[in-house]
Amino acid sequence: MNPETAYIICALMMLANGGVLGLVHRDLLPALRPSAVSWRIGTLLIAGGCLVILTQRALPPGFVLTVANGLILLGLSGYWRALRQFYALPDRIWMLLPAAIGIAGVLWFSAVDENIGARILIVTLCWLALFAASAITLLVSHENDSARSRWALAGIFMFAALFSFVRLVFFLRPAGSAISSVIEPGSWINVATPMMAGILPVVGTTAFLLMCSERLRRQLERAASTDYLTGLANRRTLAEAGERRFRAARTSGEGLAVALIDIDHFKSVNDRYGHETGDLALKHVAATLEQTCRADELPARQGGEEFVVILGAAGQQDASRFAERLRAAVEATPFASEGIKLNVTISLGVACQAPDDESFDRLLGRADTALYAAKANGRNRVEMAA
Ligand code: GH3
Ligand code: MG
Ligand code: MG
Repeated sequence: MNPETAYIICALMMLANGGVLGLVHRDLLPALRPSAVSWRIGTLLIAGGCLVILTQRALPPGFVLTVANGLILLGLSGYWRALRQFYALPDRIWMLLPAAIGIAGVLWFSAVDENIGARILIVTLCWLALFAASAITLLVSHENDSARSRWALAGIFMFAALFSFVRLVFFLRPAGSAISSVIEPGSWINVATPMMAGILPVVGTTAFLLMCSERLRRQLERAASTDYLTGLANRRTLAEAGERRFRAARTSGEGLAVALIDIDHFKSVNDRYGHETGDLALKHVAATLEQTCRADELPARQGGEEFVVILGAAGQQDASRFAERLRAAVEATPFASEGIKLNVTISLGVACQAPDDESFDRLLGRADTALYAAKANGRNRVEMAA
């Protein structure tokens, strides 16, 4: 295959990929769309760059090489930008620096002082900077996700960097400096270059789309398991985790304790300040509970103004002490919003796993009875189930 055919095939594949990305764009999460648009623009710019290279015989090289390399460098900058947008990192003007340096270098060493070695050196260094920046953005991303697609894409960037380095070494050797153009036939490197250039826009785009779908999957998972208002575990998660911990505690013999929590006189908060302020107060109490819970405790919203905490203690004494800590934390943290300052208190019913509790639900049922007692005995207090 001659290099020109390779450039045409790769450019067509990139254009097709850019087209597909345009078609699926609407299916992506709105938050990911800017990132996908940048990735698509990057792909189309690189495809454009490959096509412009083909006009080398017809147009002045100074013009063709500068435009072609400029498009490819801007395309790679687009990829970097797409990844930064994926992780909600802001745009920065210095992100254009590698492309600007590359374009200036190509212009100089093709139009003013024709030198293919210097040209390839500068362009490769700018590519390497962009590949490294993209790989680093992926690897040092602010998400502790284990998505394999993220690692795959970082690997593709590193592979592209490795190939660019090999190509640079090739062109700096005497055999390489004898080549006068990147579309000159007869050299394997000139055929390999467009093929490798196609890896990022084609294979990389697949990895990028998988990253988007992984993000969507995790968001759906989170939405299904958390309470939309407070962000705590929802009832479903509580039921699953509760039953699991209940059985594990039974097997290990360690026991389990649970606190059922109800905000005191919450109806009056709604009545006096409105439902929206009531919602904020609910979020406030949820946040206080979450901050007070230890790593092994699970706070959840049971529904309405009722919460459940699976306590990190099993004995009556410890459970009572841990529940008291939650009560005191809520009492000590008034709710403040738009000039309103409210002292909020909670009542807690606590039950410890007993030999005749056959399920987590049964344990919760006993905690509920204790909660009734806490309300009856004056509220803002902890009662232990018998
Ligand atoms: P008690 O001390 O006996 O628990 O008194 P209370 O007023 O808290 O009890 P009650 O069960 O009568 O009232 C609960 C109130 O919680 C009624 C309802 O309007 C309010 N509530 C339940 N869910 C929500 C919610 O999601 N948002 C808001 N703003 N209010 C809620
Ligand atoms: Mg209630
Ligand atoms: Mg209440």
